[in-house]
Amino acid sequence: MEKDSVLMEKIISLAKRRGFIYQGSDIYGGLAGTWDYGHLGVALKNNIKGLWWKKFVDDRRDMYGIDAAILMHPGVWKASGHVDTFTDPLVECTKCKKRFRADQLEKAGICDSCGAPTGEARNFNMMFQTQVGAVEDSSATVYLRPETAQGMFVNFKNVVDSFHPKLPFGTAQIGKAFRNEITPRDFIFRVREFEQMEIEYFIRENDWEKQFEYWKDEMIEWMDIVGIDQSKVHELEVEKEDLAHYSRRTVDFEFDFPFGRKELYGLAYRTNFDLNIHKLEYVDEENASKMTPHVIEPSFGLDRTVLAVLLSAYNEEEKEEDTRVFLKLKPSVAPVICAVSPLLKNKPELVGKAEEIFGTLKKEFGRVMWDDNGNIGKRYRRQDEIGTPWCIVIDFDTLTDNTVTIRDRDTGSQIRLKDSELVGYIKDKLN
Ligand code: ATP
Repeated sequence: MEKDSVLMEKIISLAKRRGFIYQGSDIYGGLAGTWDYGHLGVALKNNIKGLWWKKFVDDRRDMYGIDAAILMHPGVWKASGHVDTFTDPLVECTKCKKRFRADQLEKAGICDSCGAPTGEARNFNMMFQTQVGAVEDSSATVYLRPETAQGMFVNFKNVVDSFHPKLPFGTAQIGKAFRNEITPRDFIFRVREFEQMEIEYFIRENDWEKQFEYWKDEMIEWMDIVGIDQSKVHELEVEKEDLAHYSRRTVDFEFDFPFGRKELYGLAYRTNFDLNIHKLEYVDEENASKMTPHVIEPSFGLDRTVLAVLLSAYNEEEKEEDTRVFLKLKPSVAPVICAVSPLLKNKPELVGKAEEIFGTLKKEFGRVMWDDNGNIGKRYRRQDEIGTPWCIVIDFDTLTDNTVTIRDRDTGSQIRLKDSELVGYIKDKLN
């Protein structure tokens, strides 16, 4: 693979230049660990979220959506153990005073920045605190949720009362989570504000091994759906001593990021820990007795998904004149499905016809871009760089026979189609 930092710089620069992702609060010098998604980044994220919701909620009969509040009662986080144990080991350099996560130092006990020894590690709680209401004492302290999971557990009874689901069934949520990471780094990989897509799947205890395998396969299938390069994905069986306090088995899906092999997703068997601590029960219809379901939790970071998708899609092709950069995004994921261009922008008859075709496609697909800037070659390159699968050009032949050229991003090959066939052609490819 290409030298790692170079590839990351290319991705970050493309993301900024082309309107995918910007540094948060950039004009004020930036705020570490925050990133703002621009027009194309939002589209990419929305497409990923939509596909996730379709696969895991809409296409199933046993899944219930939740969109819980980010601010939750502090009792939730006391019960879940986050107030006491959601910590990372913090060390400070004895010389330059920079702070690091002890387990992320390149050399244990040595400052990454100046090489001096670091001090003793202490536990640093990663939850962001804020105050609710007009009082400023500790009774008003609440936390921004560090995971979406608890928002689903505390709604367990509501879901059961509203929908009377039979085991096994699940809840699904997409939403923001906040962690005061000691050292946010690696672009959108480790940030302080991010989005998670999580499922809590409630099961009978004796089904847990079967369900764990089932969800592992579902997660692998998901990665294929969004176009994550499976050859870069590795399953890591988390060692007993490294398991979170609630977990009896965890498998991390790691991805070969340019900065190392790191966690992309996690799959955990949380036993009945969460429902127990919140004192929640379920009446089992099989024998009309009360029980506490167990939980399998597939957890997906959305921002890490975006990064893995971009890295999997990034391609360079050496041409005689220069290098062609293209994002080989799946059409269902690509921010723009197709771009429409009149061959020449100063010929009203071409522009008029192109506008008409643009209008039809825009109405059908939404994510359609108008592009009449520079010559056709430059337009193709611009669309390649943002991963647009098809470019449609209206030329003088269109005016006589209603055919247009449609160019394929990956092969660069072009065919001519009747303008009336365009919608069908693209729909076919999308499915
Ligand atoms: P790490 O070990 O990398 O800090 P974690 O094990 O704490 O991650 P989980 O608590 O399992 O992560 O969170 C579930 C998912 O949320 C992760 O698999 C990841 O995709 C995402 N995630 C967690 N922390 C961050 C973060 N700081 N920035 C972006 N995504 C994150």
